[in-house]
Amino acid sequence: MTTAAKNDFDYDLFVIGAGSGGVRAARMSASLGARVAVAEDLYLGGTCVNVGCVPKKLYVYASEFGKGFKDARGFGWQSERPAFDWPTLRDNKVTEISRLNAIYDNLLTSPGVKIVRGRGTVIDPHTVDVDGKRFTAEKILLATGTWPYKPEFPGADLSITSNEVFDLEQFPERMLIIGGGYIATEFAGIFNGLGAEVIQLYRSALFMRGFDDDVREFTASEVRKTGVDLRFNTNVTAIEKTGDKYTVTLTDGSSEVVDTVLCAVGRRPNIDGLGLENTAVTLKDNGFIKVDGDFQTDEPSIYALGDITDGPQLTPLALAEGMAFSYNQFGGEARSVGYEYIPTAVFCQPNIGTVGYTETEARDKFGELDIYKSEFKPMKHTLSGRDERSMMKLIVEKASDRVVGLHMVGPDAGEIVQGMAIAIKMGATKADFDSTIGIHPTAAEEFVTMRTPVG
Ligand code: NDP
Repeated sequence: MTTAAKNDFDYDLFVIGAGSGGVRAARMSASLGARVAVAEDLYLGGTCVNVGCVPKKLYVYASEFGKGFKDARGFGWQSERPAFDWPTLRDNKVTEISRLNAIYDNLLTSPGVKIVRGRGTVIDPHTVDVDGKRFTAEKILLATGTWPYKPEFPGADLSITSNEVFDLEQFPERMLIIGGGYIATEFAGIFNGLGAEVIQLYRSALFMRGFDDDVREFTASEVRKTGVDLRFNTNVTAIEKTGDKYTVTLTDGSSEVVDTVLCAVGRRPNIDGLGLENTAVTLKDNGFIKVDGDFQTDEPSIYALGDITDGPQLTPLALAEGMAFSYNQFGGEARSVGYEYIPTAVFCQPNIGTVGYTETEARDKFGELDIYKSEFKPMKHTLSGRDERSMMKLIVEKASDRVVGLHMVGPDAGEIVQGMAIAIKMGATKADFDSTIGIHPTAAEEFVTMRTPVG
């Protein structure tokens, strides 16, 4: 054991992982005067910047043009849909991500954070090894996030994950996606919009578990209308490679021949080789790192935050945790993160935006509710001819009139719900919604004009 005395530590804080949470904690702690180093063996910015939120949103934009060209004809534009060139999108994405990597480098080095390139392994509660070089620190922060996993079945290794899908050499004309969560549903929309034939399989009766049931059903129906072949109660039992193609055998005994199989069945904590066995850090039953409200693990000098701990795997939450950690440890301020009313969006097509409780959760927690629901054809599609509808839902606690859940499926749901989330977090009542003047004509005004409960 090489535990050093406090004043002899190389750093006040050594962060392992330069993703959303690690970068925020490292640079804020350094700005507050701490001596900080961060180890990263892959890319600066982590999953979000490199193989997650950022490239995903760029690809969502790309895919929306496909429908946009078709919609435009109803508004008088006569041109045919232009051809789509995958290498242009992929390579422009690479250029943009390189630009962001450089910004992240600067975000870290400007306040004085030392970037150590390589894989960090905890050797003892105050020592980290990075590819043979040792660093001591008063505190160590684990922020290595999660990593996609694949279920076990013959040929599972022939599938790809969200780590590889952005940089495919060839555009897949026919694609099969396993999973019914965020990533599977977002990529079904992306590749369908870009022109691929997409089959999405979900193992149970209704996908997007955890979302409001009306949202799940409505989204399934809208996703099917876009042309995605969405199949429930179906899974994969085997994948075989035949030439350039993959033959996928399904649980119903049928098979599909596709160019690419994308496996999006969840992400697990990225703790392999982290050296936790050299510490008193413990894991929860589901394998995520156990921390207290101050992000402290069972090893007092070691902290953890972001996706590697058990909670919603969302970049803005990791950022908030990084901020709170820095102020708690180095800013002399007690800060905490509020985990109730976290808004989230799924950039499937159409989008889902949501904040607060589902109807089922709200009935359990609050008892009697008033439910308001609205379904309509977005104004744009009166002329575009596109067969797409939107849905909005408000869940109100009867006793207090407080809006405890707000859900939307439709264009820009993420943008709309982000604004609404402030009101919900502040405790807005249905009467507050009713007394708010709408902006006309928008979809969002529907949230302040629903008057008759449906349940
Ligand atoms: P999710 O947990 O969202 O979804 C995983 C899906 O895979 C579920 O439908 C699950 O089914 C299914 N599944 C799990 N195991 C198997 C299996 N063995 N065989 C077949 N299907 C299986 O994980 P994702 O990978 O989609 O995303 C990971 C996390 O990343 C998300 O939870 C989210 O927090 C975050 N994320 C956020 C985004 C955003 O903010 N827009 C975008 C992308 C990711 P079941 O429901 O039955 O368990």
